[in-house]
Amino acid sequence: MRDAHLSDRATPLDMTPEEFADVGHRLVDDLAELLGSLRERPLGPDVTPEEVRAALDAAASIPEEGTEAGKLMRDTTRMLVEYSLYNMHPRFFGYITAGAAPIGVLADLLASGTNPNNGGWALSPMASEIEAQATRWIAELVGFPGGGDGVLTSGGNVANMIGFYAARAAKAGWDVRADGLKSEEASVLRLYASGSTHTWVQKAADLSGLGTSAIRWIETDAVERMNMPALQAAIEKDLDDGHRPFMVVGTCGSVSTGAVDDLPAIRDLCDTYDLWMHVDGAYGAFAACLPNAPDELRAVALADSLALDPHKWMYTTLEAGCVLVRDPSALLAAFSYQPEYYYFQQEAKNYFERGIQNSRGFRALKVWMQLKQAGRAGYVRMITEDIELAQRFYDIAVARPEFEAFGTALSITTYRYVPEDLRSRAAEVEVATYLNELNEGIQARMEKGGEAFVSHAVLGDVYALRMCVVNFRSTLADVEALADITAKLGGALDRQLRPEGLRPVVDVEGPHA
Ligand SMILES: *Cc1c(COP(=O)(O)O)cnc(C)c1O
Repeated sequence: MRDAHLSDRATPLDMTPEEFADVGHRLVDDLAELLGSLRERPLGPDVTPEEVRAALDAAASIPEEGTEAGKLMRDTTRMLVEYSLYNMHPRFFGYITAGAAPIGVLADLLASGTNPNNGGWALSPMASEIEAQATRWIAELVGFPGGGDGVLTSGGNVANMIGFYAARAAKAGWDVRADGLKSEEASVLRLYASGSTHTWVQKAADLSGLGTSAIRWIETDAVERMNMPALQAAIEKDLDDGHRPFMVVGTCGSVSTGAVDDLPAIRDLCDTYDLWMHVDGAYGAFAACLPNAPDELRAVALADSLALDPHKWMYTTLEAGCVLVRDPSALLAAFSYQPEYYYFQQEAKNYFERGIQNSRGFRALKVWMQLKQAGRAGYVRMITEDIELAQRFYDIAVARPEFEAFGTALSITTYRYVPEDLRSRAAEVEVATYLNELNEGIQARMEKGGEAFVSHAVLGDVYALRMCVVNFRSTLADVEALADITAKLGGALDRQLRPEGLRPVVDVEGPHA
């Protein structure tokens, strides 16, 4: 029969249920072993891009024939286990990257296993409702007003951009979605953000067509908070010059130092000048859940739109961002179109109308399951302990003579290694330059060594090391180890790198002369 292959398709991607179970159980066993052995493993491989490409056989052509699923999974698992950097390692303190919660890893498998399309409710009945509940729970967790709207995104960048587009649609003053930037008025739209705002704001201004010169960069004070008189002066000046201010971006937890802007004062100015208040709380907003959170953190609730990153302080796997808006119609007003080729009749949320994506995965499941597994109390405890660990590390850095501690905010502590004999000379240009080189070297060595991982912050002219705890696996012993590792690498590197002119003066006569 000519069409036999169509009647009984033996397709190369299908697996029998037994095969799927075998391969899957083996994978889960391997991942369990990985999670169980994290502490004994180096944080990452000490390899060059060439070595990684060689292990992958990166230049190989597309395979003509397929590979048996079990072998493929075993080989791939082995390759990834060997060549990954483990941000879930208890001594990973870099950037703001959380160590994936195990339940979230399994949730991702379950999400893929059921594969709903969270773009439309009809395509994802339970999954869409779970996303609605998860975003509402995040709002409850951080005290954001109920009755608004929200959507999960790939991360903080897109969450912030959605806030930006909501602001633009709400406050531009003309039909910016239809008329775009052709309008005379377009060239005068202005937004305000502090110099320590994350780079998403440039991408948003650029991609929207406004251009980055529409951003008014407001100076910050010594602790990276937006200078409020300068903000007001900039708004006033733009109004005088015939420009149209439309939004202010406040930051709750700056990337470098965890600084929180004066959000209540930003709210007041936004009310005075009829501007949209957006808060980038990608990292810091979650700390608003603490019962003893200061008012400045709780003020995330004042925003018109608030971006937060579950893949930071909610400890989910990548990717999961979230944006919440106070006005329940704000996302639809910025993104909704209703094309004739969709047939979504239910009285329910269709997420394709609430953001940039159309087809959407079920990232909500891991967020929701983690909130269920840990509960509010569990999150309060983990976030509290992360902050305590960063503060303990700060205390250690203050106490140890070979460290200079710069500050601690939220769960970030900045510090650097300073050889004791150079301590009193740190302001000299040559010494300052050397200390920057030394600390950059420590960071690079640490990354290669795989014992711990920190990133850096540029504080004025100082290259500081920066540790950030968004890691429920880290313990006091791990932050103590970080101090020892920094000191060990610093001492060794100092002996190697110290320029002649900065060497301690050696008493050639010796002590008995
Ligand atoms: C991480 C971060 C972002 C960017 O978020 P992604 O999830 O990396 O896209 C934006 N703003 C702040 C304050 C952040 O910490």
